[in-house]
Amino acid sequence: MKFVVDNMLGKLARWLRILGYDTVFDPSLPLRTLIAMSTQWNAIFLTRRKSFAAGISPNNMYAIKGERFNDQLREVIDHFRLDVRAKLFSRCTKCNVEVRAAEKSRVKGKVPEKSFEGFDEFFECPSCGALYWGGSHRVNTLKKLKQILNT
Ligand SMILES: [Zn+2]
Repeated sequence: MKFVVDNMLGKLARWLRILGYDTVFDPSLPLRTLIAMSTQWNAIFLTRRKSFAAGISPNNMYAIKGERFNDQLREVIDHFRLDVRAKLFSRCTKCNVEVRAAEKSRVKGKVPEKSFEGFDEFFECPSCGALYWGGSHRVNTLKKLKQILNT
C-alpha cells in the first residue's frame, strides 16, 4: 500500500513513514500532480480537502475526518488496517526510502559515543545517509504510538 499525502498533513506523512509505509509528501507539488501520482501508482491520496478537481477515482483517495493529528493517524491506521509493528522504523522519515543495516564498525564516530557503546544494530538511509538506531528517541516514539492507538 502506497500513500500520497496532501500538503497540509506533514506530520501524518512523517508518521506513516515511521510505521514503514511508502508515503509521498512534497509540499512543493501542486494538487494536480499529487492526484496524477495517486492514479498512476494506484496509491491512496490522503487529504482534508472537501472538494476536488475531477480526475481521481474514489478508490485512490481518502478524505480524513479528524482535525487533530492523533485522530488523523488513528483514523488512517483503522481504516486501512495498517500493521503498526511489521515495518516499524524500516524507512527514512526524510527520504521515504527503506533503510538498510549498517555495520557497527562503519558508524563509529558518526553516532554519539554512548549510542555506539549501547547498541549493536544500526541502520542507514541509502539516499541521505541518515543513521538510525534504538535508544530514547525510539522509546519515545513507541510511547507516543501507544498513546495514539489507545486514545
Ligand atoms: Zn534519508
